[in-house]
Amino acid sequence: MTARIAVFHGFGQPLELVECPIPNLQEGETLVKINCCALCRSDLHTYEGRRTEATPAILGHEAVGQVIESRAGLAPGMRITWGIFACCSECFFCCNGLPQKCESLFKYGHARLTDEQPLSGGLATHILLRKGTPVVPLPDSIPDEIAVLANCSTATAFASIRNADLRTNAVVAVLGMGILGLTAAAILSSQGHQVIGFDPDPAKAELAKDFGCTDFFSDVDAFKSALSNQTQGRGADACLELAGSQAAAQLSLTSVRIGGTIIWTGAAAPVGEVSIQPEQILRRQLTIRGVHNYIPGDLTDAVEFLSAFSQQFRFEALFGATFSLDEIETALQFAAVSTSRVMVRP
Ligand SMILES: [Zn+2]
Ligand SMILES: [Zn+2]
Repeated sequence: MTARIAVFHGFGQPLELVECPIPNLQEGETLVKINCCALCRSDLHTYEGRRTEATPAILGHEAVGQVIESRAGLAPGMRITWGIFACCSECFFCCNGLPQKCESLFKYGHARLTDEQPLSGGLATHILLRKGTPVVPLPDSIPDEIAVLANCSTATAFASIRNADLRTNAVVAVLGMGILGLTAAAILSSQGHQVIGFDPDPAKAELAKDFGCTDFFSDVDAFKSALSNQTQGRGADACLELAGSQAAAQLSLTSVRIGGTIIWTGAAAPVGEVSIQPEQILRRQLTIRGVHNYIPGDLTDAVEFLSAFSQQFRFEALFGATFSLDEIETALQFAAVSTSRVMVRP
């Protein structure tokens, strides 16, 4: 049996479609046939040369598929999603609640393709799941197109919210109404929290409301005064920076109440510096917490949430065109200029 893979050789070079042998499974490994894989911003950043990855590589991590064969106890035919990483479960970070920072971390869609590390990404007909990969079965109620969101934006949104440690009926400011911000808003609203959304693009207003924002603003002053009016001048219990911009990180510092929590999840690449007055942080008893990726429990929560709520929120509105693996180059070029998620069905 062979697999078909799209190999990325570096910025400016066309992807190469090749057949490769499927290796024999080692203990703990699972062979999965890919149903579909969405193109993430991080894939596009790599494709456009704005982020450097080891090459050659198979890009793509937002995938779902069907178990073909497993030496990890998974039943053939089972439809699953999996974490973006495999971890060892034994190192310092794995034993201290940060498996996403494992000392021998393997990240799907970001690893160098070698004979020892074959089938490492989602832009292929098959993927080989390593030992130590979190796997979650998918209920039939979640279509593939929605399920692909689970292991990237949905699980990351859950990690951000978990780290905010919210009280019940909290007021949460969400900065950035991209897929991550919209998903966080939907989760927060499903949990009974009040969500005040902000994005400098006024065109996001309708989506923001559809995804559970109680209020949405594209003007900073209007956002600040609404936040103040709705909290008797205190500010939000927490602010999630999910825009990945310097302006949003700066704005987050003045959006929370005394004792509030600021979560930075958006800026996974350098965006410039923000200015912090230590005196304000201590007098206002603020917590600033960085969140990168997620832990296996967040992925389980993501699948449960999508299963229960994907109909209620307009997740299907986030998707654009679907391409075959043979059209991968067109798919990447289309995705680079599209605001919606592009899907590849091998
Ligand atoms: Zn992603
Ligand atoms: Zn580890």
